[in-house]
Amino acid sequence: MPTLQVHRPPPAHDAPVAEPEASLQSATPQAAALQEQADQASAQLGPEVELNLKRDIYWLRFTPVLEALFERETGQSRARHLLVGSIIAIVIYNLFLITDLLMLPDIFGTAVMVRSGIVTPLALLLLIAMSRELRPLLRECLEAGIVLLSALSLYYLLALTDAPQSPFYHPGLVLVILFGNVVVRLRFWFAVATSLAIIVLYALIRPGPATLTGEAVIINVVMMSSCAVFTLFANYMLERDQRRGYLLNLRERVRRAELSASNAELTRLSYSDPLTGIANRRELNRYLNNLADNRGFERIAFILFDIDHFKRYNDRYGHPAGDRCLTQVAQLLQNSLYRKGDLVARIGGEEFIMVLPDAGRHTAMLVAERLRETVEAAAIPHEASPIAPVVTVSAGVSEGPMSADVLPVLSEADTALYRAKAAGRNCVSD
Ligand code: GH3
Ligand code: MG
Ligand code: MG
Repeated sequence: MPTLQVHRPPPAHDAPVAEPEASLQSATPQAAALQEQADQASAQLGPEVELNLKRDIYWLRFTPVLEALFERETGQSRARHLLVGSIIAIVIYNLFLITDLLMLPDIFGTAVMVRSGIVTPLALLLLIAMSRELRPLLRECLEAGIVLLSALSLYYLLALTDAPQSPFYHPGLVLVILFGNVVVRLRFWFAVATSLAIIVLYALIRPGPATLTGEAVIINVVMMSSCAVFTLFANYMLERDQRRGYLLNLRERVRRAELSASNAELTRLSYSDPLTGIANRRELNRYLNNLADNRGFERIAFILFDIDHFKRYNDRYGHPAGDRCLTQVAQLLQNSLYRKGDLVARIGGEEFIMVLPDAGRHTAMLVAERLRETVEAAAIPHEASPIAPVVTVSAGVSEGPMSADVLPVLSEADTALYRAKAAGRNCVSD
């Protein structure tokens, strides 16, 4: 009978499998939990990510599954970006009242009402609406609405004024285009639509004064269009880079998640017995070391089981049948564990151990006897056994103080098992 050797495995074996490093910084436990979910989900996204990396992102759109994930993971920061950009724009928009006073003195009162009394509160309302969790489409529509609203308010003021300097105000519309396309960076197709609307409306409305010549309108349209083209180009490149960056980052996460899953599987395999599926000797070592490290109790009990006349079983029924018998007995022992923290492991050919932390000798004897009866009651035929027509086990019980070195207690169980064998087998001894 081999003597049990408990040794501390090197840290590399003992260390828990490293969690995949969170790719988005998780500030709260909820965020961390969400992140973990996303990382777990991302393990199944491998083919989807590769597909999106292969096809070009000309249309700035992923496949539906990834588009939804992209929105879920970037939507919040996008909403924050829109909020901050819009607040800055609202402040600047109101600061233009100073130039209104200097350049459009005839309608200054109206300008105050339009800028601070109508557009600003409306824009703030839209921002409040956006701060709720919105569908991306609605969110972008609301932001595009803020951009268009500011352009329309300028058309309105310019249509009312007779101030001779007002034509200098018209190129100011490029600021509105710049704001929509670069500052808040509307999604590309929204940016295209908003820029077009601003330019076409300007050309159609041709807001005053009456002295504004056709050439001046053309120049303004050309300036606005050039600004739109430049900023749309920048907008497109930024969104494309953002999407590509997201995909590459996701691919890394997928790889890490896959790696960590296969590491976990390898660890699981290395700690279980391939024949019976229960814990193996390595797991027993790890378990005992953990117990020694986190001692919350004072006693520990061991039961060693050994199948009686198993060599004869193999000789009579063949090795494959012997394997099935081992598996059956292992399952009987495993299924009889009823206390969390107890362990059953296969430690040799037809030898098993049961560890009962915080159990006394009396309890361990009762458990061992119950299990001996359970194996006998399973009535696995063993015609070659001289002691019973069925498979039986002998058990050795020991109990002692919990300490960093439980080897002496373990060897007592070994000796007790010898005694049980010597006493005729199919019995329990301590
Ligand atoms: P005892 O009652 O004294 O324990 O007698 P025994 O025959 O059970 O003890 P012994 O140690 O002489 O034989 C153990 C046998 O267990 C020998 C070996 O063929 C068998 N065995 C060990 N590992 C396996 C295994 O993985 N599968 C099978 N089928 N048999 C195994
Ligand atoms: Mg044996
Ligand atoms: Mg045996």
